[in-house]
Amino acid sequence: MSKILIIEDEESIADLERDYLELSGFEVEIETNGIVGRDRALSEDFDLYILDLMLPGIDGFEICEDIRKEKNTPVLLVSAKKDDVDKIHGLGLGADDYITKPFSPSELVARVKAHLARYERLTYETQQKNEIIEIRGLKIDKTARRVFVNGEEKIFTMKEFDVLAFLASNPNHVFSKEELFRKVWSMDSVGDIATVTVHIKKIREKIEYNSQKPQYIETIWGVGYRFKA
Ligand code: CA
Repeated sequence: MSKILIIEDEESIADLERDYLELSGFEVEIETNGIVGRDRALSEDFDLYILDLMLPGIDGFEICEDIRKEKNTPVLLVSAKKDDVDKIHGLGLGADDYITKPFSPSELVARVKAHLARYERLTYETQQKNEIIEIRGLKIDKTARRVFVNGEEKIFTMKEFDVLAFLASNPNHVFSKEELFRKVWSMDSVGDIATVTVHIKKIREKIEYNSQKPQYIETIWGVGYRFKA
C-alpha cells in the first residue's frame, strides 16, 4: 500500500485530502507544521508528498527543495493562489506537479495515482538495468556475471569473475594480495594469498591481448594490483 504524507495547516483541507486518498486505498499521514513535516518527510519513507505552500515554520517551497536534495519521490504542491504557479515554474524546485485550491478531490486522487504509477515504472526500469562496466573493448556485466572481450564472451570461474569485478569496480586503486584475498575470498576459506596470483594470471590470459604487457590489470611491484581505467 502506498504511503502518502500531507503537509497542510488547514485541517479541513488536510482531512478532505486524506479521506479521498484513503477511500482510494492509500495510507495517509498528516502534518500541520512545516518544520515537523519536513523532518518526517526526510527521515521516514513515503511514496508521495503533498505539500501546501503557505505553512507555519517553513513553506512548501523550501520543503520541496529539501526533499529533492535527498529523494526522487514524487512531490505535489498545493497552492491557494494562481500567482504561485508562476513561482513554482520559476524556481525549478523539482516538484512533479501542482494543484490550485479549490480543487476537486477526485482530481487530486487522479494526479496522485498518475505520479505513483510513473514513479514505480521509473524505479522498476532502473532496477532492471544491468550493472555494466565497459572499458577499451572489455565489457563486464556484473548483473549477469558475464565477460566479453571485443564482443567475444570469455568463460570465467566464480572467483575469477569476483576478482575482476572487484578490481574493475575500484579502478586506479591499488590492492595488495592480502586485501584482494580478504575482499573476494571469505576469511575462513581454504587456500592462501598465492591463490590471488594464480587467479590474476588466469584472468589476464582471458582479457589481455598480451599478458606480459597487461593493459587492464597492472602489477604494482611490491604492492599489489591495480585496474587501469
Ligand atoms: Ca496553508
